[in-house]
Amino acid sequence: MRGLVHKYGGTSVATPEKIKNVAKRIIREKEKGLDMVVVVSAMGKTTDHLVELAGQISQHPDERELDLLLSTGEQVSIALLTMALQEEGYEAISLTGFQAGIKTVGPHTKNKIIDIDIDKVKDYLAEGKIVIVAGFQGMNELGEITTLGRGGSDTTAVALAAKLSFPCHIYTDVEGIYSVDPRLYKPAKKLEVISYEEMMEMASLGAGVMEPRSILIGQKYKVPIYVASSMNQEKGTYIKEYDGTMEEKVVTGLSVCDDILMVTISQIPDAAENMALIFDKLAARHVNVDMISQAASFEGLLSVSFTAKVEDRGAVQAVMDELDPQYHVCMESEISKLSVVGMGMRNQSGVSGRLFRILSDHKIPFRQVTTSEISISYAIDRLDKERAVAILSQELNL
Ligand code: ASP
Ligand code: MG
Repeated sequence: MRGLVHKYGGTSVATPEKIKNVAKRIIREKEKGLDMVVVVSAMGKTTDHLVELAGQISQHPDERELDLLLSTGEQVSIALLTMALQEEGYEAISLTGFQAGIKTVGPHTKNKIIDIDIDKVKDYLAEGKIVIVAGFQGMNELGEITTLGRGGSDTTAVALAAKLSFPCHIYTDVEGIYSVDPRLYKPAKKLEVISYEEMMEMASLGAGVMEPRSILIGQKYKVPIYVASSMNQEKGTYIKEYDGTMEEKVVTGLSVCDDILMVTISQIPDAAENMALIFDKLAARHVNVDMISQAASFEGLLSVSFTAKVEDRGAVQAVMDELDPQYHVCMESEISKLSVVGMGMRNQSGVSGRLFRILSDHKIPFRQVTTSEISISYAIDRLDKERAVAILSQELNL
């Protein structure tokens, strides 16, 4: 079977006109002889409105009921898109997550796909139908309707593509993946291709084009992914396995993450046990600690800094309140994290030297640095963010 999965986000199906436009795009592929499976999100801001609606009834709505409510958004868009295709004279059928065989596990509102009973989708394809599947939803082992977490339609699309061994095209309101968020740096270049690893790193570090979990699935099952605009025919970005040709470029992108909380604890008596205790307590409260740096001990006292998300501030504060009162704690929230990402860093030295030089020459102070195999991240004051993004982007030719 030669086929393709298309996915359209909420803005691409926001109005009846846009839904008709999407139908035309699907037909163009169908006419090439491809079996088409299409995943759609809810129209426009429907899901946000449903969340708000629940909030007007209850401060803490039951999550099973929330799943039932939120899953209705996609049910509207799949039916309308199917009608649009039928109106153009094509055979099409819409399927909810459950009808498409999408099996999930986990807590309500945060389910994960574990498998897909793909036979039904395949049968409809064999009958020549275009199959339209509701994104973001599935069914758990109890037969309950579940959702996959906000932005989960990307995951539905890539998982279906994996199961069918089809490529996956993600159509959205941006024209592809940029080296830097164009809202932060106008001249940012659109990337022709990016590896799964880089995309994962960019996505989880803040570049919000795709849901990070979908990229993990893509990587695991080697699904070729293509991200482009649903509004025009401009060339988008391929996300695929790393190959040597991408190597010429050492740095692929710069991702920026705001809302970082930086915590510095000093006056800690120098003993490994004291560090263990602090981070055990943070873990117990599910604080996702990111960058950690410890200064060399001075006169028997240590200091350590770490970053977390601002949203975890309450939990971090609770841990700090439990610490020995002789420790000195400082919490700052006006911090951004800039991460320079590139597969080429794996086997080329000198990138960190170059970055430190750029920051030093332009007198951009940084508070913390961490590295992974393919990235270097700096925590900087929010006030320096714009300037740092512009300078690094220029210097690195992003
Ligand atoms: N409609 C859902 C949301 O807004 C899922 C998605 O768009 O991917 O989060
Ligand atoms: Mg989305």
